[in-house]
Amino acid sequence: MEAKVSRETAKKKAEMLAGGAVLIPKDFRLPFPASRSTAGPGAGHRSVVFSFGGTRAKKAVSREGGEFELVVEGDSYSLMRGGFLFIEKVELVPTLMHAPFQAFVNIDSRCIYDCKFCNSPRLADDATKNLSDDRIIEMILGASKEDGFQAVAFTSGVAESPMMTVRRMAGLVKRVKQLLPDTPIGVEPYATRPDEVEILLEAGADEIKINIETFDRDIFEKICDDMDFDQILHAINHSGEVFGENRVCSNIIFGLGETDENILEGTKVLANMGAVATLRALRRDELNTAGLEGALGPLEPVSAERMLTLADGQKKIFTDYGLSPLRFKTMCHACLSCDIVPFWDV
Ligand code: SF4
Repeated sequence: MEAKVSRETAKKKAEMLAGGAVLIPKDFRLPFPASRSTAGPGAGHRSVVFSFGGTRAKKAVSREGGEFELVVEGDSYSLMRGGFLFIEKVELVPTLMHAPFQAFVNIDSRCIYDCKFCNSPRLADDATKNLSDDRIIEMILGASKEDGFQAVAFTSGVAESPMMTVRRMAGLVKRVKQLLPDTPIGVEPYATRPDEVEILLEAGADEIKINIETFDRDIFEKICDDMDFDQILHAINHSGEVFGENRVCSNIIFGLGETDENILEGTKVLANMGAVATLRALRRDELNTAGLEGALGPLEPVSAERMLTLADGQKKIFTDYGLSPLRFKTMCHACLSCDIVPFWDV
């Protein structure tokens, strides 16, 4: 299947995702508030989703400096890099809650684990927005009235135990299902047991994302040392059985010192379980770099070329297994903003 965008556009997207922040002119007022996510690659930063050439990329924005520069001319926007025009025509896409067209809620940033890449538990108290369930439902209902609303999703840190988080998430899923019965719901728990997966399915979740994070077991032990690789894999496998194909996804992060072969082997293992891997370039910043380099030593930045090469390999595997990220209605595969997405971008 052909990609939805040109190779040139995919290259620009990869360069943006691999690059630094976007400088926003000091006197420019964004047409909507910047996203202030507490989970995902941009956690802890103000970010904006830029759309161009039929795709989109979410980037940290700054008023102080950046690798890219937003140029505003009336109602038109373009991006410059190094003093040269980088993308001639860009649009700014509002995020309903964290993602375009979705209310994607981090229900709790607290976490008993210490995954070295994850910024959520490292955020200052004033950024973490610890919210009551009633407030979360109220915010989702508010978002559901906005233009373009399409889906709801939940992620969470593990404040006390995986099962307690899953039960809270399931309670929210049930409430959303009653209030918005036609809206697809995605869930992203740290699930370690088949019954946790089933609790979420029975509550009404349509899609599930259980992140294996890396397929290199030595790296896993160094960066997710208090999590259990085999239990996560077991939960993904069970999800494939009960949610079905093209309804289960899982992040594999690259840029941690693993090989491309390892990433693609992991993509195949997941595909064999009916799960669609999300290949995600490691994002490093002032919150996670010391922990990552303390565990893994100095790390090579991820290049745009590597992003595209891996996405090409991922696409071949999905084709062989009859899988596609474009079948998802919620979470990252539907959002398109942080990764090179097979069948859309390449
Ligand atoms: S791709 Fe995923 S992590 Fe990135 S903004 Fe979209 S939903 Fe969030």
